Amino acid sequence: MSKRYDIAIVGSGPAGLSAALNAKIRNKEFVIFGNKNLTTKIVKAPKINNYLGFPGTSGEGLKERFQEHLKAMDIEITEERINSIYAMGEYFALMANDKAFEAKTVILATGIEYTKPIKGEEEFLGKGVGYCATCDAPLYKGKTVVIIGHNKEAEAESNYVSEIAGKVYYVPMYKGTYNLSDSITLIEDKPEEVIGDLKVKKLLLKNSEIETNAVFILKDSISPGQLVPGLKIEDDHIAVDRLMKTNIKGCFAAGDCVGKPYQYIKSAGEGNIASLSAVKYLDELSRK
Ligand SMILES: Cc1cc2nc3c(=O)[nH]c(=O)nc-3n(C[C@H](O)[C@H](O)[C@H](O)COP(=O)(O)OP(=O)(O)OC[C@H]3O[C@@H](n4cnc5c(N)ncnc54)[C@H](O)[C@@H]3O)c2cc1C
Repeated sequence: MSKRYDIAIVGSGPAGLSAALNAKIRNKEFVIFGNKNLTTKIVKAPKINNYLGFPGTSGEGLKERFQEHLKAMDIEITEERINSIYAMGEYFALMANDKAFEAKTVILATGIEYTKPIKGEEEFLGKGVGYCATCDAPLYKGKTVVIIGHNKEAEAESNYVSEIAGKVYYVPMYKGTYNLSDSITLIEDKPEEVIGDLKVKKLLLKNSEIETNAVFILKDSISPGQLVPGLKIEDDHIAVDRLMKTNIKGCFAAGDCVGKPYQYIKSAGEGNIASLSAVKYLDELSRK
């Protein structure tokens, strides 16, 4: 049987990191999923003046301070993307690409995606449109797949898919150099609409179109309603109370994913509350 953590924290932005610090201080067995670079939203900020104690710092500078803090507290980030989370009653099952994890409580700290869905994306979700290329790749053995990549990690996912699919097109939504297998065709154009009938047939771009069986859209975070079936969403954010409890017992949420204002210190504060609420819930469980 796999190890069952006390707390699984999904997301390595300020909300997730602050939750992890408090879980550590309260001596809980926890795992934090995300990436060692923490969050692209820190790195992108040119100057931050509203984080208490760090006036005028750059995003990069704040990121380094966060990383030093993690090191000092001996906290390691597990570099896995969680694709779905199922409430199993007594515990949660968290599914990554080829692994599964178990935890008694979950803290969602996934941030929000600023980009709007493209036309047809929601209509064809599950009918050829997907958010996890590696999970669904076996369905497209020998077929054509388009991958719209919003970050560098999408490149590795595309390389893996190219070993299974018949043809892979990669459409990057960022500028840079792309570390892609030779068999992948790079399309630098703006995706506009997914077209199909019962299933996906085509991706229309600004200056071209691609006939395809699937379109995978790989963003930093997927919508929380997709991630956790049954989770209550209000105005596009996870509904929480003042203790950061969601409608699912043992599931808490913090940061941008629960609502505006989108700010570092608000996210960190909510991560703190969510973690302490999870600890309290665990204490109650152990007394049952
Ligand atoms: C350019 C820019 C400048 C900004 N400037 C400021 C500022 O000056 N002051 C301020 O207060 N705020 C600023 N912000 C806002 C701030 O960045 C956000 O409010 C803050 O980062 C939110 O923190 P978070 O922890 O909720 O989420 P995020 O920082 O978005 O972190 C979420 C993390 O979780 C990861 N993740 C998501 N889903 C999964 C999954 N399923 N599995 C594993 N990992 C996952 C993501 O990859 C990401 O690393 C700025 C934002 C931008 C974009």
